[in-house]
Amino acid sequence: MIADEKKELFSEDKMNKIISLCKRRGFVFPSSEIYGGFSAVYDFGPYGVELANNIKAAWWQAMVRKNENIVGLDAAIFMHPRVWEASGHTTGFSDPLIECRKCHARLRVDHILEDLGIQADEKMTEEEINKLLDENKDKIECAKCGAKDFTKAKKFNLLVKSNLGNFTGDWEKNPVYLRGETCQGIYVNFKNVLDSARVKIPFGIAQIGKAFRNEITARQFIFRKREFEQMEMQMFTHPKEALKIYEEWKQRRWKFYLDLGIKEKNLKWRKHKNLVFYAKAAWDIEYNFPFGFKEIEGIHARGDYDLSRHSQYSGKDLSYTDSQTGEKYIPHIVETSTGVERIFLALLTDAFTEEKLSDGTERTVLKLPKKLAPIKVAIFPLLKNKPELVIKARQIYTDLKSEFMCEFDDNGNIGKRYRRQDEIGTPYCVTVDFDTLKDDTVTVRDRDTMKQKRIKIFDLRDFLEENLSV
Ligand code: ATP
Repeated sequence: MIADEKKELFSEDKMNKIISLCKRRGFVFPSSEIYGGFSAVYDFGPYGVELANNIKAAWWQAMVRKNENIVGLDAAIFMHPRVWEASGHTTGFSDPLIECRKCHARLRVDHILEDLGIQADEKMTEEEINKLLDENKDKIECAKCGAKDFTKAKKFNLLVKSNLGNFTGDWEKNPVYLRGETCQGIYVNFKNVLDSARVKIPFGIAQIGKAFRNEITARQFIFRKREFEQMEMQMFTHPKEALKIYEEWKQRRWKFYLDLGIKEKNLKWRKHKNLVFYAKAAWDIEYNFPFGFKEIEGIHARGDYDLSRHSQYSGKDLSYTDSQTGEKYIPHIVETSTGVERIFLALLTDAFTEEKLSDGTERTVLKLPKKLAPIKVAIFPLLKNKPELVIKARQIYTDLKSEFMCEFDDNGNIGKRYRRQDEIGTPYCVTVDFDTLKDDTVTVRDRDTMKQKRIKIFDLRDFLEENLSV
């Protein structure tokens, strides 16, 4: 029934349609919406939280469950303020911004330069940045109003302050921060894990958790949030092995996205041209979002910087002694760092499809990988006002719901129910009709092909198990 003809969407149009679907169907809501929303903060709705949980489970499975030498951790969001001094965040974690003198929009300089094909060095001073901006001033215009008149660039720190535990009220001088990245919790627990778990180098610590950044430019929906969730793994390695292990993880992380079901044509590698002084190698995996190829994951060889700095600031020895050779060294770190929201948005971008059907109607369908779909099976009685159909459909729902994420629906007509399930990406819809009462079979409709077939109720579980793992 699906005609070949598919509508190619303009990117902006596609982004707006995804945002609208997310709101309409309960994937993502603007935070505190009844108060007018809260810039760059979003909430996951009923289907969003399912999809996000499925993404996290897939990552945990690939990183912790499948690797004997990787263990999990869940460190607290609040950390000792010295952590952020040691990490360099209190001084170096900043984005340079300029302000349009006409409309007062604040723009990130690294984004402006990137659009001009110039990669800014993170270490650049305000003076150097302003010089670069001056050299390119004819090419830079305000993304909002088109004006070409800007203030000088100024760096803004991204760490989010809190007043936790500071009863003197002097929290401006002595702030506790909401963590800006999850990996610091991993570094400061390196010794604890080493002493308590049976791990030997090379080993990894993996963590999923919230991170907070005072992102100045709130744009691109959930791509850039002020509160978001990172999934990070830090591998502790022998200095001589670090780059080999780094190469292995580069390949493995690429494969993770393919295994997740993301289309390879929408992924690409980007090499960091200007490495920070301690880094040995740094590549990003980028995804083709409706607003262009942007970072989804960073894979970095960080040398011994992190453990050395924490050793220096805490006064604790964070070296490792090889029990066989007796060799003592500060491990080098290979990091893989991705975000739940960016994978979420990549999956929606990959999956969002508008189709013109041969009967002239159109449908919107989220062709999500089945294993990640928020609802796996929807169960309908053909008619709402026939108790015998409703009872039978409810029985099937009760029977399957502990194993598969199911939804029971008897609202509106069957066509409307299919449209709704298509829009939230439900792979299968099961309908109980009058034949079911005679022969214990149901129709099972496939989301992508829209084809229906009859299956014995007894065989439903096996059918779903077989077909939902892709
Ligand atoms: P960008 O250059 O886009 O600001 P970044 O290089 O600062 O990103 P990292 O510090 O390397 O990002 O963070 C690792 C991962 O965490 C990113 O690849 C991304 O998936 C996620 N991430 C970072 N910042 C945000 C954010 N503001 N909102 C959502 N996810 C984020």
